Amino acid sequence: MFSKILIANRGEIACRIIKTAQAMNIATVAVYSEADRNALHVQMADESVFIGPSASSESYLVGDNIVQAALETGAEAIHPGYGFLSENADFCRLCAANNLIFIGPPVEAVEAMGSKSAAKTIMAEAGVPLVPGYHGADQSPDLIKQAANDMGYPVLLKAAAGGGGKGMRAVYAEDEFDQALEAAKREARNSFNDDIMLVEKYLLTPRHVEIQVFCDAHGNALHLFERDCSVQRRHQKVIEEAPAPGMSETLRQQMGEAAIKAALAINYQGAGTVEFLLDTQGQFYFMEMNARLQVEHPVTEMISGQDLVEWQLRVACGQPLPCSQNQLKINGHAFEARIYAEDPDCDFLPATGQLTVLQPPAENAYVRVDTGVIEGDEVSMYYDPMIAKLIVWDIDRDRALQRLIQALSEYRIAGLTNNIGFLYNLATTAAFKAGEVNTGFIAQHEQEIFRQRSLDIAYAIPIAAEAMASLREQQALDSANHSSEPNSPWHLKNSWGLPNVQLQLQIQGQRAVFPLNRSRRSTSSTVVSTDLGFDLFTENGYFRCCEVKPNLGENVEDGMNSLKAPMNGTLVALTVEIGSPVLKGDTLLVMEAMKMEHAILAPADGQVLDFFFQPGELVDGGTELLAFEVNENELP
Ligand code: ADP
Repeated sequence: MFSKILIANRGEIACRIIKTAQAMNIATVAVYSEADRNALHVQMADESVFIGPSASSESYLVGDNIVQAALETGAEAIHPGYGFLSENADFCRLCAANNLIFIGPPVEAVEAMGSKSAAKTIMAEAGVPLVPGYHGADQSPDLIKQAANDMGYPVLLKAAAGGGGKGMRAVYAEDEFDQALEAAKREARNSFNDDIMLVEKYLLTPRHVEIQVFCDAHGNALHLFERDCSVQRRHQKVIEEAPAPGMSETLRQQMGEAAIKAALAINYQGAGTVEFLLDTQGQFYFMEMNARLQVEHPVTEMISGQDLVEWQLRVACGQPLPCSQNQLKINGHAFEARIYAEDPDCDFLPATGQLTVLQPPAENAYVRVDTGVIEGDEVSMYYDPMIAKLIVWDIDRDRALQRLIQALSEYRIAGLTNNIGFLYNLATTAAFKAGEVNTGFIAQHEQEIFRQRSLDIAYAIPIAAEAMASLREQQALDSANHSSEPNSPWHLKNSWGLPNVQLQLQIQGQRAVFPLNRSRRSTSSTVVSTDLGFDLFTENGYFRCCEVKPNLGENVEDGMNSLKAPMNGTLVALTVEIGSPVLKGDTLLVMEAMKMEHAILAPADGQVLDFFFQPGELVDGGTELLAFEVNENELP
């Protein structure tokens, strides 16, 4: 076994790898950028090496500096984690040239799966079923469009070099095609420096079911069952689970065999994931193979009882797989929820800021929290805004889901916008409880997940009133006791008298006026105070409540003005002419932030009077981007 390894990554995955290395008595070397000087992964590792400025293109993506760090510290192998250099064939070669072992598949396998197009060609030859589409070398826009027209809409454009949902666009009709292709190519060029596209039939309500495979250097190959990762926003996973709900043993076996066939077709070694789309008829289609450890690997670990990082380390130093296929059994059910700094109410826009409060639920045999940050840390604009992965396990799906719901309501984060309430609402929908997942889940259950019904507000008012009363009492007690925990949550239980005062709250953005008194109802809600008010986690979902203070008027929650930059980013394109008539909802300009494009839309019919920035310019979040005149006949 290795005696020292370097981890070419940051955040939760670097910490995750260090934990296993420590358990195996392997010394660890962390690398870090300027922004990560005091990061948790640096504190956990035995040694650490500074590798450059905060931007990942100048630090975590600079293979030479990372190899140099490994050589200087005497590490024998490099674990790339996921993202960054994990699927970069040049980096694999650089490691080999310096006698460092790359903890991952052989370079030829990385190369073969590096392009979604090339991967599809290989898989078709190996007899693995593919999503219908065009993935050829001829990239003329007319030819790609013709392929889309022939297939029939909707279609999905994808960047061959893609990942993380970037460079991906769904197209619903021929007349949207040209613009969508242009936008997808632009995003792909920005993210991957490569704009080769492929086009696929866009399956409307498939499930994303992927198979974890493992191969060693001795010709052994097996799979560790499936993960269902259908619940997605922006084509990216938010809640994953294993096993997949309703999966039959026959289908599991067929998909497992197809995945192993895919791995063997490229002489795979190490951990890999073969991603499939599964349609409502039980047909499955190869989508891509990820030649690395996946973000969601913990759910597989929870149901198989195996440590996949340990397996990776064993395979990388030439040992055979620790067990055979028939020694593996599924035990119970696991979920993973990805906790992000992002705003679900604002198209999941990434958020940045300081984690002034970060108190995850307690870890035990049922609850696991993989994270790379601690209270007080900054979620910066430089990296992925994931705060943590919350993983739960129990003997069956119902019980595991109860654990997930409970743990989400106990998760306390303050200081920046996050998706806990959204995840809680999602996990408590009847359809999710029933396991009726597909990739359109969030859109289909939007009403329920985003709690926009006035019925919900009526439900929440008495609970909010009680919470508000508790909050006031708690604050009074806290100031009396000089408590240092202003954000601690509590369960509604006490009831003692308060004067009757009119209270104004915004509950999920809707105004409610009611007297501040105690209704003496019994409830199992959890209340967490926030910067603006408090969050309520109830049996029927999550409610964000803000107190309407007279001087704040109506606009306490008007965080998003559509003509302002939603966050720090770069202006990419102005898509209309100054003075030309536009219709409500037309795209006026495109910004890019965290490698994702965000369109600024016309708020009404009218015209742009002036653009204040030009493509390429950096703009701060909240900056006014343009002057807009609304058509006179649109005015009230
Ligand atoms: P990336 O590598 O950028 O994450 P993937 O190819 O893995 O992109 O696709 C991401 C997600 O997009 C999938 O999990 C699936 O939900 C959706 N998706 C991809 N291809 C299709 C398709 N042809 N039809 C419907 N949904 C798709």
